[in-house]
Order: sequence, then C-alpha cells, then structure tokens
Amino acid sequence: MHSLPELRDQFGRRFGYLRLSITERCNFRCDYCLPNGYIGKEPLPLTLTEIRSVVRAFADCGTRKVRITGGEPGLRKDLPEIINACSSIDGIDTVALTTNGYHLERSIDQWVEAGLDQLNVSIDSLNPDRFAAITGHDRLASIQRGIDRALEVGLPVKVNAVLMKGFNDTELQSFLDWVRDSPITVRFIELMQTGDHPVFFSEHHVRGEGIKYQLHQAGWIEKPRRLEAGPAIELAHPDYLGSMGFILPYSRDFCSGCNRLRISSTGKLHLCLFGEQGYDIRSLMTEHSEEHLVQELHRLVGLKDESHYLNVGKTGATRHFAMLGG
Ligand code: SAM
Ligand code: SF4
Repeated sequence: MHSLPELRDQFGRRFGYLRLSITERCNFRCDYCLPNGYIGKEPLPLTLTEIRSVVRAFADCGTRKVRITGGEPGLRKDLPEIINACSSIDGIDTVALTTNGYHLERSIDQWVEAGLDQLNVSIDSLNPDRFAAITGHDRLASIQRGIDRALEVGLPVKVNAVLMKGFNDTELQSFLDWVRDSPITVRFIELMQTGDHPVFFSEHHVRGEGIKYQLHQAGWIEKPRRLEAGPAIELAHPDYLGSMGFILPYSRDFCSGCNRLRISSTGKLHLCLFGEQGYDIRSLMTEHSEEHLVQELHRLVGLKDESHYLNVGKTGATRHFAMLGG
C-alpha cells in the first residue's frame, strides 16, 4: 500500500493515473492512427510479471487508477489476467480499459469478472457505413450490444469520438439522441497531430469549441471538476440520462490539469503523449528491483515539461497513438 512519497513534478502536478499500453498491435485501420493497419512484427510486449511489477511500483507512489490501452488491448489473450493482476494490487482502486470494442460483446462479462471497473470504447461514427469506412470493420452493431451489456452489469461507460471534419462533424444529433436515453458519457476528442499524419490532420482537424458552444446554448452545463480530475470537460443536461464531454488539447491550460503518466507496451515511461522520448525502465520491472524502479520514477517525473508544444506543431516522437495508447 502507498507508503512512499507521491509522484510529483516540478510544477506541482501529481500523477495518480497511469496509462498502460499492453500491445501496439491493432486490428482496426482508423484513418488518423493506423490507416494501413498494424504492419510488421511486434516487439515483445510487457509480460504479466513485468506489468505486475511496474503497476505495484506506481501504486507505491500513490497511483490509484490504471487504464489498460494499446494498440488494441482486446487482442491480448491474457487480458483478463492483466486486468486481474492490476485490480489485485494494493492501492489500485480503479482499473479501466480503452478498447475499439471488437471483442467487447463476447468478452465483457469475462473482463468484469476479472475486476474491470470502467470502460471506454472508441466510436467515431454512429452511421454503420461511415464507421466501417473509418475503421475497416463493419462492427458498430456488435460494439453497441457490448456497451449495452456493460451497462447492464453496472459498468460506467464512456464513448470516445475523434472529431473529424468531413467524417463525423455533422453527427452531434445522433450522439445526443443516444445520450438522451442511455447513462453513457460521449466525449469528443479533438484530432491531434501526430508524426505520421500531418496531411490528414490539416485536412480534418476541427475545433471542439464550436460544438461545446452549441451545447451551452442548448442548456448543457459544465459539471464541477473534481480536484484530481484530468483535462476532460464534462457537461450535463436535465433532460438527458447521459453526459457529454470534450478533450480539447489545443485549448489553453490543457496541460495544467495533467495527472497521468504513460508506460508503452515495450516498457518505456513517457512523461507526455507528445514527448520527445520514452525512458526505458523495463529492466527494472522485476520483483527484486522495485525499490530502484520507484526511485527512477521519481527522478524521471522531475524531467516532465510544463506543456506539450502542439500549438506550435511539435508532435514529439509519437508517430501515431497506437504506439502509446492515446
Ligand atoms: N485501440 C483502442 C481504441 O481505439 O480505443 C485503444 C488505443 S487508441 C490509440 C486510444 C484513443 O486514442 C482512441 O480513443 C482513439 O480514437 C484516440 N486517438 C488515436 N489517434 C488520435 C489522434 N491523432 N487524435 C486524437 N485521438 C486519437
Ligand atoms: Fe487501432 Fe485504436 Fe488506433 Fe483505431 S485508434 S487504429 S482502434 S489503436
């Protein structure tokens, strides 16, 4: 259980939230991420033992929430064991999963049984044809049934949609219709520029502020932000069962709310999604070097920059988000 000092950077930010990528492989071909699918042989991803060791070290430094991400985490056969390992670690009170939903319908019960507490599913379009065009898979109906099942067993569900001009920027009403009767949170994420896709970004990036303004005009109110909440903004409306949300990385002050650190599937610590490099700490992910790992985490967190420099077009070393899990 947490006994050591918390991870804190030189700007006073605390990091109670770890995003852990367990594979960089993916079976989808989202236009903004892996438009040609995952190509090549994957470097050996973290083993269950390494995952246990690094999450334990984070928990010792005050981390309370772990999000399992990828690539597509559902592609790992040992995902239930990974969920269970994270949820069994003293101090970790929330295990969340971000998935494209491909395996959701058939696996959700198993994931919940293993200890999953929260689910994020990426759905960029509610139009089945458009969904298939964006991802390469005609799978929307199955994913929505999977979400219904997750809600049935009491899991909080967030749906992430990346806003893209010419693809889904006209779908606000469809998402609102869903949120009216369903206790989900739909979050629009502004498309972010990554190293591999500068042209796609310049053609399809659209600011989320316009939609946020429309919602304010229609009576949506921003929810008060919890002190430990991350950079997402959430809105509620009395006529709607669910909520709406925004992740606006190009807005001012986005980084001041940063509460997360990232571990890549090959065991590198990334201080920022758009940092220049990851720090390889894999060799310390053993039962015997946990103390050293904790020291190293504290040292490296001290190197975190105050902000990403996305606004000036710097995307760091992140070629696409499947590398790191978004
Ligand atoms: N494959 C899983 C999924 O799609 O949910 C997990 C990994 S994916 C990289 C995590 C999130 O990053 C998804 O919600 C995805 O839409 C988002 N994402 C990927 N590339 C992005 C980009 N360039 N800008 C904004 N969001 C992006
Ligand atoms: Fe795969 Fe997720 Fe990237 Fe889409 S966003 S290609 S589902 S990793």
